[in-house]
Amino acid sequence: MGRPLRLFNSLGRRTEDFAPAGDTVGIYTCGPTVYAYPHLGNMRAYVFADTLRRALRWKGLPTRQIINITDVGHAVAELELGDDKLEVAAARERKSVEEVAEHYTQAFFADLAALNILPADEYPRATACVDQMIDFAAELERRGFAYTIESGLYFDTSKSVDYGRLALINTEGQREGARVEQVEGRRNKTDFALWRTETPGQMRAMRWKSPWGWGAPGWHLECSVMSIALLGSHFDIHTGGIDHRQLHHVNEIAQSEAYLGDARPWVRYWLHNEFLQFGAQKMAKSAGGTIRVADLSSAGIHPLAYRLFLSGGHYRAQLDYTHEAIESAQSSLRRLMARAEPLRPLPPIQTYAQAVDSAHGDQATIDALNQFDAAISNDLGTPQLLAHLHESLRSDGLSADGRRAVLSSAESLLGIGLDRIASDGLAGTQALLADDLTARVTDLVAEREAARAARDWPRADQLRAQLERLGVQVTDTPQGPTWRAN
Ligand code: AMP
Ligand code: ZN
Repeated sequence: MGRPLRLFNSLGRRTEDFAPAGDTVGIYTCGPTVYAYPHLGNMRAYVFADTLRRALRWKGLPTRQIINITDVGHAVAELELGDDKLEVAAARERKSVEEVAEHYTQAFFADLAALNILPADEYPRATACVDQMIDFAAELERRGFAYTIESGLYFDTSKSVDYGRLALINTEGQREGARVEQVEGRRNKTDFALWRTETPGQMRAMRWKSPWGWGAPGWHLECSVMSIALLGSHFDIHTGGIDHRQLHHVNEIAQSEAYLGDARPWVRYWLHNEFLQFGAQKMAKSAGGTIRVADLSSAGIHPLAYRLFLSGGHYRAQLDYTHEAIESAQSSLRRLMARAEPLRPLPPIQTYAQAVDSAHGDQATIDALNQFDAAISNDLGTPQLLAHLHESLRSDGLSADGRRAVLSSAESLLGIGLDRIASDGLAGTQALLADDLTARVTDLVAEREAARAARDWPRADQLRAQLERLGVQVTDTPQGPTWRAN
């Protein structure tokens, strides 16, 4: 099956050979909070988890993947340490919290599809599992791992064996800071809420009855409960963005190991993707200045150009999102499609074994496939894999069938559409702006069009000048106006 797959395990911070515990590799991927559209940074986490699944499939290992949907407003508030974001969004959009959550959940599914991400086996919603969360928390309380204070039921981290080993936390110092709130009566500053009890007079839009009063489950609880329910007590891999390594996953481990109480590590491999940066910061829902998959499309950038852009970096390295980088990924995608087109249809290849079979003993093809295998086996080395792909497409040494095998193998690992996207379907040169600016520019361009149609030239010129002040250049073509940001 080629060489062993080596993965960087955040637990212990080393690259290790991956060996699944059973026949099917269980993967739990922390899902999105659904009070706003997912942005390209969020989607990096799911493209990464998908690449991992594709690598496991390449090695002939079946997977079962769960991605949860965080649709409990309190949980979102806890994550961001602010207001109940779901309630805020509901008020803003004049919808119920359920409608808001459903709308953004569907948007997430649409983005997964646009990025050619293999569907997970299940997408459990946190709101559907609250009873199980209450049972889980009650069991922890019964066994002495939790205590009640006015604001709810808290997990006592001093009872946890080796608390914080994932984050390499020294429990004594640290952890007062980002995402950690001040709580009256808490015994240790690392203790976290299993249940958040409503304050008297408060009535949340989403609330459940529990032994600790009306309220809502703590954010960390949902992932422990849903992963154990759907993957079994112990499973192979847990993934998420790098921010989860410091707190969310630390707390998931503490409560799950306390609950299971079998002195075994709950999950053996913890994998984290680095951030997509925008400007000098991580792209973030709360920070504004986000870009969505839909923004790419409306600017004429194919969503898979974004996936190609991601593959050009290693998942554990920060990546800077810039107009230039995405434009260049789009050109690169177009060139790859132009090379692939004449060779289609590609043979169906998903695994290394199938790839080698399809080479029919041709050594040059097998060598190229082994290079792919070496790249992906080395902690999902997609940049090296891409470099080998370009190399083998340029080389004279490969037959047409060899190229087909190589292209199909690269597609099975990268999911960038080599088997089906038309190179001329990748038109469009408009550069990208942040969300709100894009909408503004689109409005101004439309208004200028209307002025031109009404032959109101002074108004049209005025609008062009206004656009130029925003750094946007408008060009009129027979097909209508196009614009690009400088
Ligand atoms: P959230 O909806 O905020 O819980 O985020 C969903 C997933 O996206 C989590 O795994 C986060 O760690 C991840 N994430 C959030 N922002 C970024 C970013 N800028 N780059 C990469 N991953 C991110
Ligand atoms: Zn989680």
